[in-house]
Amino acid sequence: MNKKLSVDEILQMNQDYQFFTWTPQKSSLERIAVAGGKGCYFWDFDGNKYLDAGSQLVNLNIGFQDERVVNAIKAQADELCYIAPSYATEIRGRLAKKIITDCAPGMGKVLFTLGGTDANEYALRIAQGYTGRYKVFSQYMSYHGSTYGSSTLNGQAARGNMDPGIAGFVHFLGPWWRDHGLKFETEEEYTEFLLKMLERQMIQENPDKISCLVTETMQGGGGVIEMPKGYLKGIRDLCDKYGILMVCDEVMVGFGRTGKWFTYQHYDGVMPDMITFAKGSTCGYTPFGGVIVSKKIAKYYDDVALPAGLTYNSHPICCATALATIGVYEEDNLLKNSEERGKELLAGLIELDKKHKSVANPRGKGLHTALDLVGGAATGAAHEKLKNMYIDKGVIPYILPPRIVLSPPLIITKEEVQKILEVTDEVLTFADTLV
Ligand code: PLP
Repeated sequence: MNKKLSVDEILQMNQDYQFFTWTPQKSSLERIAVAGGKGCYFWDFDGNKYLDAGSQLVNLNIGFQDERVVNAIKAQADELCYIAPSYATEIRGRLAKKIITDCAPGMGKVLFTLGGTDANEYALRIAQGYTGRYKVFSQYMSYHGSTYGSSTLNGQAARGNMDPGIAGFVHFLGPWWRDHGLKFETEEEYTEFLLKMLERQMIQENPDKISCLVTETMQGGGGVIEMPKGYLKGIRDLCDKYGILMVCDEVMVGFGRTGKWFTYQHYDGVMPDMITFAKGSTCGYTPFGGVIVSKKIAKYYDDVALPAGLTYNSHPICCATALATIGVYEEDNLLKNSEERGKELLAGLIELDKKHKSVANPRGKGLHTALDLVGGAATGAAHEKLKNMYIDKGVIPYILPPRIVLSPPLIITKEEVQKILEVTDEVLTFADTLV
């Protein structure tokens, strides 16, 4: 190998020859050149170490460089790096059985993809093929991906929505934030209102033309918002009433983020027709995702060609990564840790909300938590300052203006949760001066 590059050379080559995503390339953002990572931490070449309070893009659930997964990747690479998706492999069979039997019991089959965006693309095609209908419903404020179909699903421009996108994609008002300028006595009343509006809209759009409704089971990019009581069950019932398929996008909140394999499993009576997943399935060790479909959809495609196929579907190294990652969740009891540490983190955020005027609405489920910045602390410039303060103090949250999202790896300890809260307390003390 050539001699190692200097930090400046690394940054310069990254800047000059390739693109960074979702940002102008001449961004004022100071980039960190990363030298390595282990567990909840990563570090730069100057020895600065950062506690990753956002699990990178809310995907690094098992933390950096878990040896069990690294070794599984090496072993699969030694055995077979690649084979076309039309061949059967042991690793693919084992993984599929594990997911259908243990993670999503009751479902039928899984199609393995390369990430969340393409999982959503395939959910749409599978739904359109199965129903023979073309319209698709999704929520305002949602995020589902960045290719043409999934970004047309996205519910707002700030989340990369394609405008005008694809004909037949319809957005509806979800539980983005409680008020919508309206007041409700109870959460149930709010749910009833949203569902009545949704049904009205389905009727207006002609339900016989609607193939599927795609919903996050907890809104991620749109604000870390839990679905109100009865909402997902209500969607299930409406979908059943009109023969529409319910697709739960679990890309961000699947695989333990909220304390269960999938977030729909928190709600009685909610069994999706399809589940899309990605992030936590391999935690980014290799790119991976998938669409899990119900038994009836699986059966339909016994005799009809599946409208899906990429050169890298069911990639052996990615399948091996996912199987080993699921093993880590089980061995280290990470779903339970997500639930328990999540409660501690949320309790701490509730205290910080009482103490600081710069934030509001502490919320979360499992280890997916957030606070909204308010007033002068919510501006772009303030957010940049607060983020830099976090970095200086060695903690990096998931950056999602105008809010602070704290979704650390599921391996996080009690002490590390306290560290995140202490640093957040210091950052908010400064934020209070901006309000
Ligand atoms: N769906 C949701 C809910 C997401 O949060 C994301 C990514 O953040 C995606 C889909 C897209 O997944 P990917 O970036 O793996 O393509």
